Order: sequence, then C-alpha cells, then structure tokens
Amino acid sequence: MHELAVTEEIIKVVTDASKGRRIREIVLVIGNLSSFIDESIQFYFDKLTESTPLEGAKLSFKRIPVKLRCYRCREEFIPDEEYICPYCKSIGGDIIEGREFYIESIEVEDEDRDSKEYT
Ligand SMILES: [Zn+2]
Repeated sequence: MHELAVTEEIIKVVTDASKGRRIREIVLVIGNLSSFIDESIQFYFDKLTESTPLEGAKLSFKRIPVKLRCYRCREEFIPDEEYICPYCKSIGGDIIEGREFYIESIEVEDEDRDSKEYT
C-alpha cells in the first residue's frame, strides 16, 4: 500500500506550507498510469489528520489520462487497452502524459474570519 507513504508526504508538504492555518481544500493531480487509488489516499488522509489543522480538509483529485507519442508516426494519442496507434496502427509509444503526481493547489481557510473587532 504505497498510498500511505504518499499521503504522509502530502500531509508533510501541506503542513509546512500552511504554517498552522486550517486547510479547506487540497487539489491533487494524478496521472492515470500511477496506481494510486483516490479512495485509499482519502482514507489515510482522514486517519492521519485527525486533530490536526488539516482535519476536515477536502481532497480533490484531478486525473490525467495517459497519452502516448507513437514510436513510428510520432502522432500523440490516448491509448486504449492495447496501446495501438489510431493513425498508423502500430503498437506502443513514448509516454508523454499520465505519470503526474503533484499538489496543484492548497486553499487555506479565510484568515480574516475570526479577527473581526467589536468596538
Ligand atoms: Zn502511429
């Protein structure tokens, strides 16, 4: 279960970046070639962030489809299960998209929310 390790990494990065502020939403970009399962990341995230400023933050997943560049004709295509180029019917290509895994954005809670002054 490598989702655990990756979730710990996400939490570490977000914790460093947020400096103790509460987090509303974290947007993750994941290529479809990575074997990460969204639900597993969410599961570990919920467990590991209990009673921390990250508790209750929403995880959003953006999935990037696999894209290949054909070995033969160099056209780019989104493969089906057999990885056949739709242009020249040869098989396989260089992977140009689909291996992504990164945090795209972190939304912190409105910092002014609790700082209203009553005179
Ligand atoms: Zn081709």
